[in-house]
Amino acid sequence: MVLTANKPVAVTVADVKADEEGKGFRLVLDAERVTEARFSSLIEEQKWTSTVTAAKTGRLVEPAAPGAFVVAVDAGHGGIDTGAIGSETKMEEKSVTLAFATQLVETLNKENGVKAFLTRDKDEFLSLPERVQIARQHSANLFISIHADTLKQRDIRGATVYTISDKASDHLAANLAARENLSDEIAGVTFKSEPAEVADILIDLTRRETQAFSVNLARSVVSSFEGQINLINNPHRHAGFHVLQAPDVPSILLELGFLSNKEDEKLLVDPVWRSKVADLLAVAVRGYRGEAVANGG
Ligand SMILES: [Zn+2]
Repeated sequence: MVLTANKPVAVTVADVKADEEGKGFRLVLDAERVTEARFSSLIEEQKWTSTVTAAKTGRLVEPAAPGAFVVAVDAGHGGIDTGAIGSETKMEEKSVTLAFATQLVETLNKENGVKAFLTRDKDEFLSLPERVQIARQHSANLFISIHADTLKQRDIRGATVYTISDKASDHLAANLAARENLSDEIAGVTFKSEPAEVADILIDLTRRETQAFSVNLARSVVSSFEGQINLINNPHRHAGFHVLQAPDVPSILLELGFLSNKEDEKLLVDPVWRSKVADLLAVAVRGYRGEAVANGG
């Protein structure tokens, strides 16, 4: 028997009681409305043991301080996968993302109660499932993947914030996700998409909750960036990025700008600009956390 509610609820009573008239038993269920954040934490408590990807990272995980808000910062590409290449400077995307991610972790760690860490802290290849797995192993509350790709349309510039979806918001998003998802093939890793399990209702619920949080984070980032740094038209887009598939970690992919655009390229290699963007992201994370707390999470 499956009961569904169209608003977040928590079951307060679930009992089988003998019928007063002695004719068998009664199933008693009481449910009450709860906030989405409370609902999400209830789901969190009912952890499943199987993981979405079977990636083994072979890393020792240091648990974060109890109660810390953990942010996984993922420098896109690395090792054999250089990512895009700057048209003027010939700078590789993997170095741009690592420089920025390192700065972002430093900035976030200055925030009260935040523990940020890098999925990779050197020039090494990590498969997309490994990146997801590292975030989950650290019980990350957020996952932020950093990129700076190239586009054929060299005049397009500005930052974009992506959240995951099966259907891409537009062609540009679809093409970008397709290219990003090639990363594993470059290194000869075959990406196995997991078959859907029958008992996936819980995962599905979690995924929906996570998605709502990811969208909140993306909005928070866009509003923090607005008027401060260049944004692409419709700066919040979505597509099927494999690196954003953790069902239980709200995740965004941030294209800082495009290495195919001269102006963007100049900024991407500028430590002063990078530090400004890191500060704006810290503001966004603070805003997101504030909202989560206000909702009881
Ligand atoms: Zn990239």
